[in-house]
Amino acid sequence: MRLVVISMKTRLRARLLLAAIVGAAMGVAPVAEASSTDAAFSPARMSSLPSQPTPPPPEEEELPEAENREALRSSKSGGEINVPRFLSKVTQDADRVWVDYFAQTPGLEEPFVTYHLVGTTQEPTYTLSRACGGATIDTDHKNAYYCSTGEGDIVLPVNTFARIWQGDFFGRAPKNTGDFAAAFVVVHEFGHHIQDEILKQYNERGVPVPNYKRNDKNKELIADCFAGTWAFSAYYKGFVEPGDYDEAIDSVRAIGDPPGVASHGTPDERQAAFEEGYNTGEPTRCIIRYWPGAAAALGLS
Ligand SMILES: [Zn+2]
Repeated sequence: MRLVVISMKTRLRARLLLAAIVGAAMGVAPVAEASSTDAAFSPARMSSLPSQPTPPPPEEEELPEAENREALRSSKSGGEINVPRFLSKVTQDADRVWVDYFAQTPGLEEPFVTYHLVGTTQEPTYTLSRACGGATIDTDHKNAYYCSTGEGDIVLPVNTFARIWQGDFFGRAPKNTGDFAAAFVVVHEFGHHIQDEILKQYNERGVPVPNYKRNDKNKELIADCFAGTWAFSAYYKGFVEPGDYDEAIDSVRAIGDPPGVASHGTPDERQAAFEEGYNTGEPTRCIIRYWPGAAAALGLS
């Protein structure tokens, strides 16, 4: 996958529009709760799992260079964090993981994404395209976004991320937070781009993949699940430190929908989605569970 930092792309496609990490607290009609039909991932089994994934490590997993591991295993010792660098490293690592998945999946080819570290000298602010609402984002903006215009833009406001290390997770205060909570947000937004690429690439080949409806919480749950698959890979690369799993779970729960709102999934639903990815490491599982229309179109089972 080719990554482009802070650059404009010209190819335009009509696709999904905007996805944010935190749902707008607007009155949205509740959606019936999805029930899991996958007996292999029953609550009983889930609750017996330790805070680490169960499958064996992928074969021949190549450890990234020490520098990468150091950058990703940051933070709890009170050392200075280079937040833009951390966000870049997570994005680039997720990119490598998705390159592998796309390479192994028939019908998928190398996609493109652009990410924006908003608040750096290169990009002090970022203005979302008009299709994504046109807002100008600054470094303190209290949300992170994926916007699907062009080749896809991941928008990460740096100071907002820096505050995660201080316990402020997009205005929430999860019990555990820190580097892995920040990483979760990055890979969740990246997950929206993967959804977008799957839609785009199959549709272009004449294999129409059903899109989500507006405010379909499964769009968010699959991004949480995809984020979990990245965490699975991070575990086997040695990025995951004690406490990181709790950071991810507390954070994903903290941004679950409050009662009466159903745009992003309840805390339980979001935790379950992350764990589906984290315990399997299989994006295909995420698609089957949360995007059944796509699973059918793609012949997954
Ligand atoms: Zn999202």
